[in-house]
Amino acid sequence: MATRVLVTGAGGFIGHHLVKRLKADGYWVRGADIKHPEYEASAADEFEILDLRKAENCLLATRGGIDEVYNLAADMGGIGYITANHADISRNNILINAHMLEASRQNGVGRFLFSSSACVYNQAKQKDPDVKPLTEEDAFPADPEPGYGWEKLFAEELCRYYYKDYGFETRIVRFHNVYGPLGTYEGGKEKAPAAMCRKVALARDGDEVEIWGDGQQTRSFMYVDDCVEGLTRIMASSHHEPLNLGTDQLVTIDQLLGMICQVAEKKLRIRHNTSKPQGVRGRNSDNTLLRRVLGWEPRIPLEDGLRTTYLWIEQELQKRGRVQALANHPAGIKSSRPQLALADPNGET
Ligand code: NAD
Repeated sequence: MATRVLVTGAGGFIGHHLVKRLKADGYWVRGADIKHPEYEASAADEFEILDLRKAENCLLATRGGIDEVYNLAADMGGIGYITANHADISRNNILINAHMLEASRQNGVGRFLFSSSACVYNQAKQKDPDVKPLTEEDAFPADPEPGYGWEKLFAEELCRYYYKDYGFETRIVRFHNVYGPLGTYEGGKEKAPAAMCRKVALARDGDEVEIWGDGQQTRSFMYVDDCVEGLTRIMASSHHEPLNLGTDQLVTIDQLLGMICQVAEKKLRIRHNTSKPQGVRGRNSDNTLLRRVLGWEPRIPLEDGLRTTYLWIEQELQKRGRVQALANHPAGIKSSRPQLALADPNGET
């Protein structure tokens, strides 16, 4: 019989991609979320609208012999959203994570994966744009991002206690900035790469675009197919302690914009708005432990992933009549670079 998997947050960006991948691999999948995926139908065998802040809904979601839970549901967004909503985000997420862990244990789930974040890392270690890549130990002494980061760090600890006290099989993944098509690109919950792709797509050649911060803040970015591949590998591993999942290709935000402009073949002027939140100054993933545990690390080049993401966002805006038709779009027809296939489950392209 096929392995039975529950993906929470299956209406969201990573959860939706993960469901597609698991279905392609032959799993039986139940998705749960407070909303359906925004841009295409879910591939899940069952999709249930459930508010997972409620314990009884978590028991429902995990009923019926679920072997593995990928717990991706969270109240989250880009830097603007997570900076402005500390109370709501912390309360909502601690309820989801505590109830999902306990319901999974009570219903005899075999393995539980918690999606944590690089936001758990000690802020004092991220003050330089030329940051030393963060190893898993750098989360302590604890000084994570307010709200979202503190909640993730405590939920990580909760997973560790469940493993220690109950022998419950938990996996803890610290994502570093995931991007790709089929993710939110406007409305306040979008992350930097999607927001920047939207701004570039909506701009005309020579226009000015606004970038939050001075543009020198640095990050590493992981394409969603790599993220999904990493998730399935970490679930299959026997590693219980937190593990980074990201790339170690560090870029400044200005460089990221430059790469998107290259895909779009537009020259734009940048206006830096330093009154907007920009998060930590620099953040990169040290993948030493990831390589040791999995013998694998994310490998899709940023240029390739950005091309696919940009073209998808541009197409979405075009469908809504907000940018001109793509018929003679230079990035779509002139480029010699390979484009990633949207539905490629293994990210092999
Ligand atoms: P997303 O916002 O697209 O997906 C999260 C989903 O959770 C949404 O569909 C949302 O509706 C759902 N959700 C929120 N509250 C819920 C509730 N009460 N009950 C049921 N479902 C609820 O975000 P994503 O980018 O897909 O992130 C997935 C996970 O990865 C999250 O836990 C997030 O914190 C973590 N993460 C993501 C990134 C990233 O760069 N995308 C980075 C670090 C960590």
